[in-house]
Amino acid sequence: MMNSLNRVEISRGALVHNFHLCRRLAGEADIMVMVKADGYGHGMISCARIFAEQGAAALGVAEAVEGLRLRQAGLTLPVFVLVGSLPQSLPVMLDANLTPVITDATNLGEFSRLAEETGVKVGVHLKMDAGMGRQGTLPGDFLSLVQRVQAHANLRIDGVMAHFPMADDPGSLNSWEVLHIFRETTAALDILAPGKCCLHLANSGGLFYVAGSRFNMVRLGLALYGCYPDGHAGRKAASLPLLRPAMRFTTQVIQLRRIPAGHGLGYSHLFTTSRPSTIAVLPVGYGAGYLRSLSNTAQVLIRGHRAPVVGRVSMNLTLIDVTGLEDVEVGDEVVLLGRQGDDEITADDVADWMGTISYEVLCLFGNLNNRVLVE
Ligand SMILES: *Cc1c(COP(=O)(O)O)cnc(C)c1O
Repeated sequence: MMNSLNRVEISRGALVHNFHLCRRLAGEADIMVMVKADGYGHGMISCARIFAEQGAAALGVAEAVEGLRLRQAGLTLPVFVLVGSLPQSLPVMLDANLTPVITDATNLGEFSRLAEETGVKVGVHLKMDAGMGRQGTLPGDFLSLVQRVQAHANLRIDGVMAHFPMADDPGSLNSWEVLHIFRETTAALDILAPGKCCLHLANSGGLFYVAGSRFNMVRLGLALYGCYPDGHAGRKAASLPLLRPAMRFTTQVIQLRRIPAGHGLGYSHLFTTSRPSTIAVLPVGYGAGYLRSLSNTAQVLIRGHRAPVVGRVSMNLTLIDVTGLEDVEVGDEVVLLGRQGDDEITADDVADWMGTISYEVLCLFGNLNNRVLVE
């Protein structure tokens, strides 16, 4: 098989390390591993297998089709379909034994009818909008939703969930409000009492920064892949051991050029050399998720040194200035994300340069490139 010059490495060791670090923080709570978006770009199936081996209690995906892929790959853990629990996906969910997350009463009749056809009692989880303001049912309408589910003999409420909007900010008071609302609303309903029902609220930020938010299960994504919800600040403030980034994105030098002073580089001549320069050409660009916003901004690692990206990032080509790094050769490894020698470019660094968050960087790089799992 022929491989691209660009490659994403996923470290099994880092994933395992992060799982056990989170496992200790989670205490008695189970861990649902979020493997949506192809495991945040790390590979849904391989990540699900690794985390299942380490003791994950459940897997979380957005749509039923992802759950089906997990089943076809032999994963037997409970799989939660968090976004797309609709009548058209329910037959697949029943068949593949996926757990629907119900956001309101709209489809209950149809769900109940399909469950009856199959002759099974379907365990569902309900999604409360305890302050996220996105999906789910408001606390004031929650009792009514519970009653309407209970009116269907072949549906069973196995759990209730909500989601934090600001748990990535350790200083946010909003998280305490959401926690309070979730706790009070569920405590007021006898069938949702502990032991009868699985309550889950915390994501990575909740686990790290909102004491008392673990309930029966935590739903973890970002931390398991090795990043802190609040980026650089989180890594700086964290006590040891630290999370270990699992993704590395590398390319290589395909041409080295000596260019005189005053020469415009690439589209729009966004950069003009101010001195005789050595420019290395990289076969990577926005087609591989190395976005145009990194033009004239990002840095890469080469031979253990940092080198700046100069000029416009184009679809398949990027230029770096390696003037003064005399040992650089065609074929040298260039690290766009991750460690080389003693230096490291983190997803938070790239996110700052792109004007986004680490989540997006991981999804972009991981899902647009050849991935290999390394020990
Ligand atoms: C993605 C997701 C999570 C995981 O969030 P992280 O910040 O990556 O830990 C938890 N809950 C829900 C509902 C999600 O969609």
